[in-house]
Amino acid sequence: MQLVKAQVTAISPLTEFVHKVTLKPDVAVTFEAGHYLQLVLGEKDKRAFSIASRPSLHNELELHIGASGADSYAMQSLEHLRDAHTNTASVTLEVGLGVSQLRIDKQRPIVLLAGGTGFSYVKSMADHLAEINFDQPVLFYWGVKEASALYAKQEMEAWAASRKNFQFIPVVENASDSWSGHTGYVHKAVMKDIVSLEPYCIYMAGRFDMIGIVRDDFINHGAEREHMYADAFAFIK
Ligand SMILES: Cc1cc2nc3c(=O)[nH]c(=O)nc-3n(C[C@H](O)[C@H](O)[C@H](O)COP(=O)(O)OP(=O)(O)OC[C@H]3O[C@@H](n4cnc5c(N)ncnc54)[C@H](O)[C@@H]3O)c2cc1C
Repeated sequence: MQLVKAQVTAISPLTEFVHKVTLKPDVAVTFEAGHYLQLVLGEKDKRAFSIASRPSLHNELELHIGASGADSYAMQSLEHLRDAHTNTASVTLEVGLGVSQLRIDKQRPIVLLAGGTGFSYVKSMADHLAEINFDQPVLFYWGVKEASALYAKQEMEAWAASRKNFQFIPVVENASDSWSGHTGYVHKAVMKDIVSLEPYCIYMAGRFDMIGIVRDDFINHGAEREHMYADAFAFIK
């Protein structure tokens, strides 16, 4: 873990509820794809956010913060970042946390699974895999409630088009008639597309209630527990 000060260089909306925050650390940072950072609000108040940017960008960190509700955990974090941005003050970060970072296993295909802002966690991995020319299949599933929440759809379509072994599959839970892709829960779409998850390394992020359900359903669908990764596992039974 690296303790650093950083300037907040920009905060911009990605959707009505999700904000992109870019940070410039005072020193070069080292982390692995899939790591998270903690925004330090107080000695005992540290807020976890996945690092969306790829590890090769040592001088920039990108976060995607889903914040609704005036006094929520995420909204308070966003306010702290906004204040720092306005006052050109620095924020304190603990960078390079977690145990669910990407492992490169050249024998195994990969499923990257994101629910909502869990996108941030797997985005870093997707970009890193492209950078290292990973040649096993990589299936990137992104599930959202409404199609309007797919704020990086075009970017991910371009990512998938860049390699023949990459696929991007957006899944909309409550789709309108104009939506032609998968609908419902994102992990059900994975199980519809893939007969057995036994050969895969699976990385997942989303709401805690989602992750518990996905873990159990995927194990029943052949996934091997030792090849499933999610930092949320530490918070759920
Ligand atoms: C280490 C760590 C890092 C984190 N990093 C971030 C971060 O960077 N940014 C951030 O905003 N939050 C972060 N969080 C918090 C948490 O990951 C988010 O609250 C979560 O991803 C929010 O999802 P959402 O509300 O956008 O999803 P929703 O919009 O509620 O759901 C999106 C999709 O997820 C699936 N889904 C949701 N619920 C279920 C269910 N019960 N069963 C099956 N599928 C379901 C569906 O496909 C649904 O369409 C982090 C948490 C931890 C522990």
